Amino acid sequence: MLDLAALSDLLKQPQKIVITTHHKPDGDAMGSSLGLYNYLIQQGHHAKVIAPTDYPDFLSWLPGNENVIVYTESKEEAAALIAEAKLIFCLDFNALSRINEMGDLVGSSSAYKIMIDHHLEPADFDDYRRWDINACATAQLVYDFIVNELKHPELINKDVATCLYTGIMTDSASFRLPNTTAGVHRIVANLIDAGAVNWRIHELVYNSASENRLRFLGHCLANCLEVLPEYNTAIIAVSKQDLDRFDVETGDTEGVVNYALSMASIKLAAFIVERTDRVKLSLRSKEEFPANEICKKYFNGGGHRNAAGGHSDAPLPEVIEQFKQILPEYKKLLIQ
Ligand code: 5GP
Ligand code: MN
Repeated sequence: MLDLAALSDLLKQPQKIVITTHHKPDGDAMGSSLGLYNYLIQQGHHAKVIAPTDYPDFLSWLPGNENVIVYTESKEEAAALIAEAKLIFCLDFNALSRINEMGDLVGSSSAYKIMIDHHLEPADFDDYRRWDINACATAQLVYDFIVNELKHPELINKDVATCLYTGIMTDSASFRLPNTTAGVHRIVANLIDAGAVNWRIHELVYNSASENRLRFLGHCLANCLEVLPEYNTAIIAVSKQDLDRFDVETGDTEGVVNYALSMASIKLAAFIVERTDRVKLSLRSKEEFPANEICKKYFNGGGHRNAAGGHSDAPLPEVIEQFKQILPEYKKLLIQ
């Protein structure tokens, strides 16, 4: 175990540090990781971000992205860095299963593990944690860690601010979700003061789609959407063939589920996609409906109440059927 004073002391000397985040990193995963990276390198640390898998192109402009290692593409280098690290920061996840094969390497490393995260039910593998489920993004917690715990507000430079802004913007669905409090807006204002160019970040993340992505979205809405009015639920199910037909890349499926949720009556939306290895589910819900409970109970996953995910090894039609079979259990909550 480490307390804050001991961690602060360790960080006063240059250290070998690995920062890692969850499988298929999203805007908060990469924004919080690179935000912390850009903070640490200012103090002479040898820091590296290792992503367990690839991530969307719309995040590749983030400052420091050129130094990120993708584990699946550079396993030996990543394993050596993990073995040599004195500190491993685990950002935006709280169970080693979320980093796939890397979980064993991180778990068996003698490095101190620092968890910074906002998901429910953390596993017990860390030595220090900055964990708060009320945070709208891990990037918000990284800001808090740097400014209020390590007391380095002056090291929130333009690069740090840009990355943290991106994390908060994406995980709060552009400052729309209920946990986007006045405090979050104050942090965001500080990040803009520190050099984050808010309008430009929105452009880079949200207006960078390919023509394929837009045509794929059109296909999902026109041909793959099923509305179940008796359960106020909508499903968008996409086959491997659909993905191939539209040349869908990592990141192109992001946000599709939100279109299903945008109908007034819909309380629960599911995006079910047949990936090469297995079927992946993304659930989104409104208000009190516990999307994470369905993912945890039936689909080997979890997440937040209103945004959760999971997976299944069953064929796509069976997964769709299984999802529909679950709905009667939740009918009361869905139709109220
Ligand atoms: P998405 O649907 O965008 O992949 O994920 C939405 C939320 O659910 C994210 O906060 C993510 O951390 C969580 N999530 C997605 N897939 C999984 C999974 O397989 N296991 C767990 N525990 N959480 C997941
Ligand atoms: Mn997050």
